[in-house]
Amino acid sequence: MDRARQWTNSGRFVVDPRLKSILLFGGTFDPVHNGHTAMAIGAMAESGTSQLTILPAGNPYQRGRLPIATPQQRVAMLEIAFAQVINVVIDTRELERSGPTYTLDTLRELRQIHGDEASLVWLIGGDAFARIDTWHKWQSLFTFANFAVAIRQEEPHPLHIASVALKAYLASRQTGAPTLGALPCGSYAMLKAPVPPVSSTDIRVRMMNHQSIRGLAPDGVCDYIEQHKIYELGEKIQVGYQKTDDNRH
Ligand code: ATP
Repeated sequence: MDRARQWTNSGRFVVDPRLKSILLFGGTFDPVHNGHTAMAIGAMAESGTSQLTILPAGNPYQRGRLPIATPQQRVAMLEIAFAQVINVVIDTRELERSGPTYTLDTLRELRQIHGDEASLVWLIGGDAFARIDTWHKWQSLFTFANFAVAIRQEEPHPLHIASVALKAYLASRQTGAPTLGALPCGSYAMLKAPVPPVSSTDIRVRMMNHQSIRGLAPDGVCDYIEQHKIYELGEKIQVGYQKTDDNRH
């Protein structure tokens, strides 16, 4: 029997309101876009988590290049994008840390803050989850959090592209999304809510090519990018860097 949720006689699944259940959403957010907002809102609803903590990454080592927008600009765009969502915190701890962004350090700190009983649910895209075994001390991540996996439309299922070792590790850990917010750590669930196949790369490339980005990010974020001309020179000035798809470890 899980600690925090029970089926009532009327067949409703109820969450113990005393349990803290927090959806954690880490990313580079260079910039935040409609895929991010859709997956965060969908994941909160599906997993029954009651708070959203957004963690913009400092120096994502696996990425092969630094973000183009400044940390302040990435935070400002997140504030605009999530202004209408209740119970949201933008947590800048990774921006304040020097050196590469280790998700494990972040989770360790958050576990200490919220205590052993809290449910911590790390929201992640399917592409990143399929390669989570490349993250620093990846198995330890599951001792601190659960994972809610959002799949981009048209993207392969992460388990179809995961390594044999990762598939074996995950075999006994899958659960349904509604259970995530009731378990402290150790499980994962695939989310059902559709997520538009937008990426930050699309937006940066479109800005570099002087194309419209309307509809790819919230209007306020598009206004901010245009006003501050953030991505117009974009990756052209970072030709020494090789981009990869991974964003943290
Ligand atoms: P980039 O194009 O620069 O690699 P991104 O669009 O993947 O960026 P990130 O900030 O790196 O954005 O993403 C944070 C998290 O959100 C990652 O786990 C990523 O896989 C996931 N994600 C981003 N966009 C989507 C999407 N459209 N559908 C599902 N997951 C997504």
